[in-house]
Amino acid sequence: MPIEQLTYWFSRLTQNSPFLFAVLDKSHRYLWVSQRYCEISGLDHNELVGKQDKDILGTAFYDALSPHYNHALNGENTEGEIVLNDGIHDSSFHFSVSPLTSSEWPEGAVIFHAADTSERQVLTSALESSESRFTNLCQLVGEGCCVLDDGIILSANSHAVNLLGFDNLNEILGEDIENLLASPIKGQSLVASLTSLASGQQLVCQASNGNADSKPLNISYGSVSLLGGSGALITLSRTLATTDHKQTIEKLAQFDALTGLYNRHGFSRRLEQLINGETPLLMLYLDIDNFKNINDSLGHHIGDRVLQEIAQRLRRQLPAETILGHLGGDEFAVLLPEQTGEGVAGELTNKIVEVISQPFDLYHFSKYLACSIGSVKYPGDGKDARSLLQNADTAMYEAKEQGRNRVVTYNQHMNKEARMRLWLEIELQKALQNNGLEVWYQPKVNAQDYTINGAEALVRWKHPVEGYISPARFIPVAERSGMIELLGRNVMREVFQAVRRWQSLKVLPGRVAINLSPQQFSNPNLTTHMKKLQSATKADPSLITFELTESAVMSDGDHAIQMLNAIKDLGFALSIDDFGTGYSSLSYLAKFPLDELKIDRAFISDMETFPKQVTLIENIINLGRSLNMSVVAEGVETGKQASVLANLKCDTIQGFHFYKPMPRAEFEALLINNRKAIKAAS
Ligand code: C2E
Ligand code: CA
Ligand code: CA
Repeated sequence: MPIEQLTYWFSRLTQNSPFLFAVLDKSHRYLWVSQRYCEISGLDHNELVGKQDKDILGTAFYDALSPHYNHALNGENTEGEIVLNDGIHDSSFHFSVSPLTSSEWPEGAVIFHAADTSERQVLTSALESSESRFTNLCQLVGEGCCVLDDGIILSANSHAVNLLGFDNLNEILGEDIENLLASPIKGQSLVASLTSLASGQQLVCQASNGNADSKPLNISYGSVSLLGGSGALITLSRTLATTDHKQTIEKLAQFDALTGLYNRHGFSRRLEQLINGETPLLMLYLDIDNFKNINDSLGHHIGDRVLQEIAQRLRRQLPAETILGHLGGDEFAVLLPEQTGEGVAGELTNKIVEVISQPFDLYHFSKYLACSIGSVKYPGDGKDARSLLQNADTAMYEAKEQGRNRVVTYNQHMNKEARMRLWLEIELQKALQNNGLEVWYQPKVNAQDYTINGAEALVRWKHPVEGYISPARFIPVAERSGMIELLGRNVMREVFQAVRRWQSLKVLPGRVAINLSPQQFSNPNLTTHMKKLQSATKADPSLITFELTESAVMSDGDHAIQMLNAIKDLGFALSIDDFGTGYSSLSYLAKFPLDELKIDRAFISDMETFPKQVTLIENIINLGRSLNMSVVAEGVETGKQASVLANLKCDTIQGFHFYKPMPRAEFEALLINNRKAIKAAS
């Protein structure tokens, strides 16, 4: 294979792959490397060609691999494990090396292929980081803490070092605690006396080192788990009054062990103190956008690292007087006392956005994050810590609603909307549990002769007190709360069953359309579910269309095309809903296997007011037809609109001028009558 072809194909095949690929010549020099090598080394492909592992990934790495290269040059396939630890990287790889025979390289060449198996290493480091969190926590406590294994000191905080009469941790690491503290019980070792203490009890001891303070120490004892094994934790304190003890515990309860920032409780307390002192302040509530993706795709240990990194960046890069809290999950709060000006708020949020948007280095690849921020001030946006936090959260939520990665300043009517959303969510949940939702059907007609040629299934919710609530209001609530999955499945089941019934009554003159929300579409189990439902109900898939909006289809190109093909393979038809309101790029229309295009209602309703709109509609119809798609116009409310559309060769019309959505039984009666009329006429 000529080198140009090799480069072309290999690059295509391995682009975006997390694996390392390289082709090396007989002197172990790179002929070609994959993108991953470029990312790891920070060099581009041309700079890497001609180099060896030792130039890029270190001598140790090369020395371990070189025998394998030689085996492969002798025609053997080999594989093994290798660690890359060059001070920058710390990963392990499972690799294979195989011969590459080609007339291009009569002297031979090899292919190297490696997969990062650092998961184990990641776990180990997660364990280590949990130990270090523990150490951090010990450092935050005002008491001395020592971790012991069989009486030997494994770690200690600085308070413990001082209380035991030393200056430096190294002086006591590895020492037997028996040598540093005198047991108060004659004839019994210190550890034995400690282990026999009842829970909550303390032992009063004297430090043995002459430099230690002569005042006795209170020692308490507990067992802890350490790097998988078990050990003991002792705390040392001056013979404190119980109130001091309480304070220590209280302090510990205010910090978050993962990030070292205030936790929700501690942050609220600080906020409360400032409010009590009538200190004006600004507070921002931030939530990392799509953080769940990191936890889901890379694991919680990586998620935790990102949270720690965020905390560090905020601490380093925000003004020293800011008070920071990690309120839980991916939520942080930033408080700036003595400030309420718009300018300062703007500067602070810009800084935060900048801090979060710097890439996060996650084991060989960079991840870019964004956050949504809600902003409040005191006085003005709440009387106490609870209401301020709540309102900042509401504003943050609004920022998410508006499309993420933005800042929203709180205002009072947001609360009303937030309450309304919550009410809708609770009521919708009840309706779903009690089968309180129905599916209605809106017939569609042939644009030329106005005969029914299909229908769209539309969900209906009749609230016991409020009456019918529009899907335009509750579908977004269902999407945000995750209820759309269940709702969507209920609708699908109902439609499949109805189709099956109309199929056997032989009354269905065309397809029934089901709306799919973007969330449903992004669920990888969607097609499995469709298939199961189809075989359970025996509904004919060629009588069912799924309607998707442009944004759902465009959100993730590769996933979308696979999903669309899978739905098509099951025999269903696909329609693009609300066409013209979403994306400007039209190339997807040709790429994706779509059968139908629905012109958005907005174009139709403007037809009579803006004559140019008719030209636009004509062009959309021609576009659809040229791509072999059937074109539907929705929202047709007048006879005039219908006849213009018929003249423009639109295929199908849906709208109140012909039919409104109706309950299943009514639609069924209409279908039966329709069928009779056709029979009578023929
Ligand atoms: P959509 O998919 O664009 O559905 C068409 C909407 O237009 C329906 O509103 C229908 O009642 C309305 N409509 C039809 N003809 C006319 C007309 O001549 N004039 C006017 N002004 N409106 C007309 P509906 O039922 O309120 O549904 C609103 C949206 O809620 C739907 O818009 C769809 O996006 C969503 N939706 C409805 N049912 C479902 C469902 O089962 N699943 C999902 N995911 N979304 C649904
Ligand atoms: Ca629709
Ligand atoms: Ca629509």
